[in-house]
Amino acid sequence: MHLIFATEPAHASRPNEDFVGATPEAVVLLDGAGHPSGMASGCSHGVAWYSHTLGSTLLATLGNSSGQFDEVLAESIKTVSSRHGAICDLVC
Ligand SMILES: [Zn+2]
Repeated sequence: MHLIFATEPAHASRPNEDFVGATPEAVVLLDGAGHPSGMASGCSHGVAWYSHTLGSTLLATLGNSSGQFDEVLAESIKTVSSRHGAICDLVC
């Protein structure tokens, strides 16, 4: 199978917040929808970091798991949450 991906940032002055990647077993596409300017966030990483980190973690986890997709997604979200470290406040 031959796949071609293309994404672009919503605004030229902002990073591309989308993630797309594939393995022979799966394709992951995340649309990093961003958030309104001025909206408070306790995360210092940003939407692009989150979508890219979650997408790559999900692809890797899918390749090493026989679990159901919802379980793999939940585990991937937990993994990415742990990567925020002490500098991010995920509760606010
Ligand atoms: Zn963060």
